[in-house]
Amino acid sequence: MNLCSRFGAPSRRDFIGQLSVGAAALALAGRAGAQAAPRKLGIALCGLGNYARGQLAPALRLTQHVELRGVVTGSRDKGLAWAKEFGFPEKNVYSYATMARLIDNPDIDLVYVVTPNALHPEHTIAAAWAGKHVISEKPMAISVADCDAMLTACRVNKVKLSIGYRLQFEPHFHELKRLARDGDFGPFKTMSGGLSFTMRQMQWRAQKALAGGGPLMDLGIYALQAACMAAGAAPVAITARELPKQRPEFFRDVEETIEWTMEFANGAKGDFSTSYNGGLDRFRADGDKGWIEFAPAFQYGGLKVNTSRGPLALAVPPSQQAGQIDDFARCILENRESPVSGAMGRRDMVIIEAIYKSAAQGGKRIEVVA
Ligand code: NAD
Repeated sequence: MNLCSRFGAPSRRDFIGQLSVGAAALALAGRAGAQAAPRKLGIALCGLGNYARGQLAPALRLTQHVELRGVVTGSRDKGLAWAKEFGFPEKNVYSYATMARLIDNPDIDLVYVVTPNALHPEHTIAAAWAGKHVISEKPMAISVADCDAMLTACRVNKVKLSIGYRLQFEPHFHELKRLARDGDFGPFKTMSGGLSFTMRQMQWRAQKALAGGGPLMDLGIYALQAACMAAGAAPVAITARELPKQRPEFFRDVEETIEWTMEFANGAKGDFSTSYNGGLDRFRADGDKGWIEFAPAFQYGGLKVNTSRGPLALAVPPSQQAGQIDDFARCILENRESPVSGAMGRRDMVIIEAIYKSAAQGGKRIEVVA
C-alpha cells in the first residue's frame, strides 16, 4: 500500500502552507534560544493512556523548557478534564481526526505520541504535517517502511523527531556509554540480559495489528538499546528463536517469549531474551578488564548497578522522562538533531525485523544492514 495514502498525506497546497509554518516555528525557536530566558515550549500529549497519565504528565510538571498545553484524545470528556487539571484552554483539546488543525495553534510546539505502537506513524505524520516537532514513543513504529514514512514527513516539514528512549538520559546508562567509549573495562565482549513481565490481562500489546509483535517490540527493545550502548555500535548479525508458547490462546498472533543473539563487528556478542511470561530485568556487559551489571536495569527509577570496581550509585534526577523531554526541547531551541533521533528508532526497527526474520527461519543467521 502506498504510504502517503495510508497515512493520509495532505495536498500539495496544504504541504506548502505547512512547510512555511514549520519554518516559522523553527525561526521562533531560534529566536527563543538567543534570549536569556526563552519561553517554555508547549507540548501536546497524543494518547492519554497509562504511560501518559502515570509518567509523562507528572514529568511535565518538572520540565524546565516544556509545559503541557494540549492533548489529542479519543475522549473529549477526558481531554476537557485534562485541560482543567493542567490549566490549558479547551480549544487545545483535539481528537485524532482533528490533529491537522494543530497547524493553526501557536500554543503547541511539539507533540508527544503515546498511542499503541502501530499508530505512532499515523500520529507522528499528522503532527509533522501540522508543523510540530514530534517525540514518538518506542518502538518508533512496527516496520522499517513505516519508520521511513515518519522520517520523510518530518524532513519535508522541517520538524525534528525524537524517540521516547528515556534511559538514554539516565546517569548509569550514560556511564555505560562512557565505559564503552573510554574502554576502562576493555571493549565489552560478552553481554546478556533482557526484560520480561507476566501479562495477565488481554490488551493491545498482545495484538499484532496494534503492537506489531509481542514482548520484543515492547520490552526486548530495552535490552537491544543497552547492547548498542555497550557496544558503541549496531550489531552486524542476528540469530534468534521463538520459544514454545505456554499460553497460546492468549498470544495468538505474537510471540510469548523470544531469545536472540547480537553479533558486533569487533567480535562482541550479546545473548538476550524477552517474554510476557516471567520477571527478568537485567543487563550485564563483560570486558577483559571488568564488568558492569544492572539489576533491575530498565525501570523508571531505582536501578541497581554493580561493577567489578564495586557498586555504582549515581545521583539520579527525579524523573527520567523530564530529562528526556527537556533534552529534546533544547535540541529544538538550539536547532540541532536529537541524540535519540528518528534514525536511532529506525536502526532499532531494522534490528527487530532481523530478529523476527531469524526466528521465522529457524534461527538462521541474518546480517543486519542498518
Ligand atoms: P495504554 O493502552 O495505557 O494507552 C494507549 C492510549 O492510546 C490510550 O489512551 C488509548 O485510548 C489510545 N488509543 C488510541 N487509539 C487506540 C486504538 N486504536 N486502540 C487502543 N488504544 C488506542 O498504553 P501505554 O502503556 O500508555 O503505551 C502507549 C505507548 O507508550 C506504547 O507505544 C508503549 O510502548 C509506550 N510506552 C513507553 C514506556 C517507556 O518507558 N518509554 C512505558 C510505557 C509505554
